[in-house]
Amino acid sequence: MKQPLTVPPGTKIDLSDFDPRYVHGDSSKNSSEAEIAKLTEASRYLAYRLYAENRRAVLLVLQGMDTAGKDGTIRTVMTGINPQSCQIVPFKQPSSEERDHDFLWRIHKAMPRRGNIGIFNRSHYEDVLVVRVHNLVPKSEWETRYERINEFENLLIEGHVTIIKCFLHISKEEQRERLQARLDRPHKRWKFSKADLSERELWDDYQKAYEVALTRCNTEHAPWHIIPSDRKWNRNLTVSKILHDTLKKLDPQFPACEAGLDDIVVE
Ligand code: AMP
Ligand code: MG
Repeated sequence: MKQPLTVPPGTKIDLSDFDPRYVHGDSSKNSSEAEIAKLTEASRYLAYRLYAENRRAVLLVLQGMDTAGKDGTIRTVMTGINPQSCQIVPFKQPSSEERDHDFLWRIHKAMPRRGNIGIFNRSHYEDVLVVRVHNLVPKSEWETRYERINEFENLLIEGHVTIIKCFLHISKEEQRERLQARLDRPHKRWKFSKADLSERELWDDYQKAYEVALTRCNTEHAPWHIIPSDRKWNRNLTVSKILHDTLKKLDPQFPACEAGLDDIVVE
């Protein structure tokens, strides 16, 4: 059966309907490397034009369970893009200053400037994911956040930000393998924390929290993409394609130059 990448707003999302190994299109691991290279090269030039145009911004939001591949995706899709036009922001546990403000304060401050591509490695969605699963604030407080998030994203869109939201969907078995690989490989161990295991025990609660967030914050102008992510090449290719297609649709234009430049010869 054909699996969609996005579903219409209002559709109740059941993640068990989405196969984390599904491949959109007819790509293969072998062909993916060249395809990704072509897409990132095209995105590089489009990002250059976005920067020159200096009117609009793009925000790529990456969410997913531990080991879903947020870091790896960033590495791949941003390769070749001028670092000056990128802003990559990871969101960790809020600092005490951040906790002393509303949950969107730190998010709004981290938005990419005009002309830039921003990537959020985790995001405001943590405030309805980890916060909900662990009851870090009372239910009455997190319950209203879905609506607040939709309003906030509308504000960003009105401010000429194009929002791409990607949920990197992995299976529980794939996470087991990746966590074990972190333990087994010396240069990966730093990524492992014992807390990852207690979080893994809450797998079902997290999947449920994701289903609610993906359902309630799946809007026409900022839809969620459900990226099958058990195969890393497929995940990277799919996100590269979405970013490229978004930039292409924006079709950024170089700003008009001053008049009368044609006859100038620099001595
Ligand atoms: P990592 O992405 O592996 O570096 O881990 C960052 C950690 O910060 C994760 O365990 C997140 O769940 C946690 N985190 C991010 N945002 C929040 C938040 N708003 N409230 C509580 N924990 C958060
Ligand atoms: Mg981690």
